[in-house]
Amino acid sequence: MSHVFHRHCHQALPTIASGQGVYLTDTQGKRYLDACGGAAVSCLGHNHPAVLEAIHRQLDSIPYAHTGFFTSESSEALAKILADLAPPLINRAYLVSGGSEAMETALKLARQYWVEVGQPQRQHFIARRQSYHGNTLGALSVGGNAWRRAPFAPLLMDTSLIAPCYAYRDQGPDECAYQYGQRVANELETMLLEKGPETVIGFIAEPVVGATAGALTAETGYFTRIREICDQYNILLILDEVMCGTGRTGRFFAFEHEHIVPDIVAIAKGLAAGYQPIGATLVADPVYNAIANGSGFFQHGHTFMAHPTACAAALATLTTLEQEGLVDAAEKQGKALKTALHHQFDSSPFVGDIRGRGLFLALELVADKASKQPFSSTLPLAKQIKQTALENGLMCYPMGGTIDGKQGHHILLAPPYIIKSPHIDEIADKLRITLDTCLPH
Ligand code: PLP
Repeated sequence: MSHVFHRHCHQALPTIASGQGVYLTDTQGKRYLDACGGAAVSCLGHNHPAVLEAIHRQLDSIPYAHTGFFTSESSEALAKILADLAPPLINRAYLVSGGSEAMETALKLARQYWVEVGQPQRQHFIARRQSYHGNTLGALSVGGNAWRRAPFAPLLMDTSLIAPCYAYRDQGPDECAYQYGQRVANELETMLLEKGPETVIGFIAEPVVGATAGALTAETGYFTRIREICDQYNILLILDEVMCGTGRTGRFFAFEHEHIVPDIVAIAKGLAAGYQPIGATLVADPVYNAIANGSGFFQHGHTFMAHPTACAAALATLTTLEQEGLVDAAEKQGKALKTALHHQFDSSPFVGDIRGRGLFLALELVADKASKQPFSSTLPLAKQIKQTALENGLMCYPMGGTIDGKQGHHILLAPPYIIKSPHIDEIADKLRITLDTCLPH
């Protein structure tokens, strides 16, 4: 009997033994190609010597010291690199232990900002349907995934949700991609006017939606319009780049594709590539200064924040991304993987859409390609695909469709940025074999 409380209580999982590059091996000697980076975490692949060495060095000097008493060389250096990578207006990093903590921090920071500037009546967030921002109660409150929210609904903050930018399902026959993007972005304005802009703290979105909708990439111009609306109505723009950030889309921040600057942005998964748990909430100067020059104290904190060993791992990860040119590699290999997926699946009657950016890609599955009718959400298709792929030596990240039929099942692919063409061929081949087994013939 396992004494670990696994999320799926009755699922027997293989036990991991080792990892090297893009492969993981279990204790039975079975090897898996990690085509999803776990959950878009492993951007450097497994057992990269530079990160291991940095962790060992930190452990030899000082593994942990509480931030109430000391700062550390690794956290100072990490925050400096992040400020250098970010646009000039963003100069502070609040360092935490993961994505949900980074988003909780973003929410509390945004609220405290308005309290500091004398607008405590701002108590409301606007976010999007088919989004995920974490599993803690605050982050879950602003997420638009009905299934994840359901059991906890009575405990959640009241949040207004607008549509995501989902051209495959929603773009009208008489509008081009740009017009569609503008139309859905304008839903923010409509919602703001309905709620009263003076009551709203900010708008929250993933620049590329990850787990809940499968690498859903906004149309060009969408986020520029969103930024304009936030400026016009004086609300904060909070971007969640926990999954799509740190180089995965071929830019260090996904928002760089649109040349916009958020007021607050959260990153986590790829930040230390999974070698240590860490997240960061990056803050633009006006937000930071309001607190620094106001009460001077951010009323929030965690015991393990700015953990020196996690910061050392993140520092080594960012240095390695830079030294090995891996953000550019994510863009290049992402194009190659997308081409391979098109080659393999364009003729499939069950693959409705192949989308995403860089090494953040997804297939949306449909029962009928012409009508885009999804498979029934009650089918355990995601579970079957995950299991069959594992048997075929492939890790991928499938998710179920929505009950309202507005979204099909999808498979997210987010491999390490070090993948090369033989791995790309292996991913496409193993995925085809997997789908041949799991989908109707
Ligand atoms: N935000 C996004 C976009 C995510 O994809 C996730 C996790 O999948 C989170 C937040 C929560 O991060 P964590 O699981 O590290 O708490």
